[in-house]
Amino acid sequence: MLIFKIPISLCKSIERKIARFWWQNDSKRAGIHWKSWEALKLRKDLGGLGFRDLVDFNKAMLGKQAWRLLQQPTSLWATLFKGLYYPDQDFLKALPSSKPSWGWRSLLAGRDTISSKIQWSIGDGTKIKIREHCWLPTGKLRGNATVDEPKRVADLIVPESNQWNRPLLDHLFDVETIAEIMKIPIRPQYMTDHIIWPCTASGKYTVKSAYSFLRQDQNTSILNRASSSYQPPPSLWKKLWKLQIPPKLKFFLWSLHQNALPTKDNLFRRNICADPICSLCSTQQPETLEHLFLLCPWTSQVWSHSQINIYQFFPQKFTD
Ligand SMILES: [Zn+2]
Repeated sequence: MLIFKIPISLCKSIERKIARFWWQNDSKRAGIHWKSWEALKLRKDLGGLGFRDLVDFNKAMLGKQAWRLLQQPTSLWATLFKGLYYPDQDFLKALPSSKPSWGWRSLLAGRDTISSKIQWSIGDGTKIKIREHCWLPTGKLRGNATVDEPKRVADLIVPESNQWNRPLLDHLFDVETIAEIMKIPIRPQYMTDHIIWPCTASGKYTVKSAYSFLRQDQNTSILNRASSSYQPPPSLWKKLWKLQIPPKLKFFLWSLHQNALPTKDNLFRRNICADPICSLCSTQQPETLEHLFLLCPWTSQVWSHSQINIYQFFPQKFTD
């Protein structure tokens, strides 16, 4: 997983096995999957259980190798790859050859993972191409190039003063772009241009930050899909996971909020139970979570004497 690209089918197969193991009651019965695997992969502060998406995690690991190659272009292994696969090109533009090795294809997958996010820190500006590379804080240069626009960022800098060439900027770009460029500090000329990873404060690549970046869109789309129901704030989930109680109680509270418990109502909906009626009391109410933990005469007394404020984990409508 660190060096080679794992086939997606294999990753999905492993994830299915983890999900089956998570929900099964014993070795013989499969158990009910109360929540989708996608929901379980959400971050813990977003209501998931923080299981890793193996496809994205593999990509983040491969991104680390691509990052190392970009950072150490003169190392033995980088020189070897360059000689074999992209002798006349830049790694960021290299294409898979007709018969690429699995290692090379894995490295390209890692590069594709990070290439859209890589930013350039300006030194002497000779390596950075104005239109091709991402060197502005907000990304690539917008708009169309003029006929006399230079190719490299170095050409926008006055070498004698080591300052931006303001008259040239005024000639080439609009006011917004100029304001953005003028905010970029130019480091001493003896320093060369280098790439930075904008997802960390240090500018250095970490697998954790790359994985968070890759999961960003997924997390948002899953949350949007679930937005029809009440979503507790991240602070509440953080509080739950920080509680000084046994892990199985934390998981119980999580299941309680996610309606992932085998109440009679839930079992009835899945055609496992003949009726949804509460068997503890004579109210003939369906045994929903609200009934079982708040309204049932038998259980409401238990919770009212508990030190745990169970009501905070219930949807707003039941606490109003
Ligand atoms: Zn009842």
